[in-house]
This record gives sequence, C-alpha cells and structure tokens, in this order.
Amino acid sequence: MRVEFDRDTCIGMFQCVAEWGEGFEKDTDDGKADLVGGEEVDDDIFVREVPEGAELDAKFAARSCPVDAIVVYDDDGEQLVP
Ligand code: SF4
Repeated sequence: MRVEFDRDTCIGMFQCVAEWGEGFEKDTDDGKADLVGGEEVDDDIFVREVPEGAELDAKFAARSCPVDAIVVYDDDGEQLVP
C-alpha cells in the first residue's frame, strides 16, 4: 500500500495527524502537514509506502482530509481512498 500526499493542496487542518500520527506531522510554520519519510516525486507531491499495521490509519487519514490531499493506493496502483 502506498500513500501520496499533495502538500500544495494541504490547508493544515491536521486531521491526518490525529488519524495517523506516525505518518503525518504538523509543520506549523508552513501551516501544512508533512508526510513522515515521504519522498518528493514531483513539485510538492510526496510518496511513501504504508508500513504493515498502519494501513487502517493511513486510510482514515486520507478519508479525514477535507481537501483530498491524501490518496491511498493498493499494491496494484488502484486508488482505495478517497
Ligand atoms: S488533513 Fe489534509 S488538509 Fe489537513 S493537514 Fe492533513 S493533509 Fe493537510
């Protein structure tokens, strides 16, 4: 499972941090979340694998984001959430 984070779209509501505290952290200076361990694959687009055991948290984070800045894909590249 893979998570993709569009940091440009993020408006810093931090629901993702509440849902998946090991996956996202607050950057209060920028008013944005950071994807912990994320690799920047495009301008402000960050990607990382979801560790085993964190799948539900990652999905909840994606579901909770009010601007759909977080997308979760399965291993076949199919979009699961949102
Ligand atoms: S929930 Fe969405 S808008 Fe809020 S901090 Fe996380 S990614 Fe950004």
